[in-house]
Amino acid sequence: MRDSLAAVSLLGVPYDAHSSFLRGPAGAPTAVRAALDGGSANWCTERGIDLDPVKGAAWRDLGDLDLPEEVEPALTIIREAAADAIAGGGRLVSIGGDHLVTWPLVQAMTGEHDGLTLLHFDAHPDLYDELDGDRYSHACPFARIMEEGKVARLVQFGIRTMTPHQRAQAERFGVEVHEAREGVVSMPSIDGPVYVTIDIDVLDPAFAPGMSHHEPGGWSTRQLLDALAAIARSDAVVVGADIVEINPERDINGLTAMVGAKLVKELLELVGVSGS
Ligand code: MN
Ligand code: MN
Repeated sequence: MRDSLAAVSLLGVPYDAHSSFLRGPAGAPTAVRAALDGGSANWCTERGIDLDPVKGAAWRDLGDLDLPEEVEPALTIIREAAADAIAGGGRLVSIGGDHLVTWPLVQAMTGEHDGLTLLHFDAHPDLYDELDGDRYSHACPFARIMEEGKVARLVQFGIRTMTPHQRAQAERFGVEVHEAREGVVSMPSIDGPVYVTIDIDVLDPAFAPGMSHHEPGGWSTRQLLDALAAIARSDAVVVGADIVEINPERDINGLTAMVGAKLVKELLELVGVSGS
């Protein structure tokens, strides 16, 4: 591996003011950092790369953003912080926050990278034009992203809540949707840079109860880790990633925070080694 972890930053994005059902994901960066640092697990990825900052692993922790409730200023702060983090070839892993935060994160990415492909893991397609009159809802970010026309492809996995409206939106935007009911799917071949966005509710609530929307019939943690490993084995160059929608207020014994911590480690490695 090149010493590419030096290019990788971790950023907490604690914003959930436009969650449609429950607040709580703004607490996820704190909960996931506590799990990462909690002493029950080591800092190695599954492939054995030691990310322990105390041992000198070179990735940078940018801490958590200080965000206002008001949405437009919050989105601007997120977009600018991400743009700063990736300027000059940096790569970024973010911990949300609800899924709205992916919109400004992707805006920063498309400012730096042409032809970006989004690999999106979620129970929900998040393609609503608006939800309850709110175009900033966490149910809408991929409509906002696709309207801007700067992303080459949006490929979704684990979807199991399609509505007729969202199916029409998926067709309108040319979204490639792999629904959970299709069973195991292989990663598509991809040209150009890739951004990975993981909504924790792609997992079955049995594996990650600390989520706002308990949607049965989801993936196992193992299936998701295997999907990330398949991306790592492919030719994809992963320039950024996020993990969103962990809700510590619904968690049980810190179980979901621990899943988040494991995913953060795997994502740090994925963006660090990808393309090297
Ligand atoms: Mn989502
Ligand atoms: Mn979701």
